[in-house]
Amino acid sequence: MSDPTNRVPPTDIVHVEHYCEHPGCKRWGGFGFDLGRSRTAWFCGEHRDDGERGRRG
Ligand SMILES: [Zn+2]
Repeated sequence: MSDPTNRVPPTDIVHVEHYCEHPGCKRWGGFGFDLGRSRTAWFCGEHRDDGERGRRG
């Protein structure tokens, strides 16, 4: 039997803490970039270009 109260909304599963990966920047990383190998880099709006550069193919 499955307990319906144990069900977690998908939005809660994918919601993780991720801040901008630009050195020294502590803003929220709202822009995700798939770098391959299941790795995703996150950058804020100001440093999203970093992600664009890091992404290959
Ligand atoms: Zn940033």
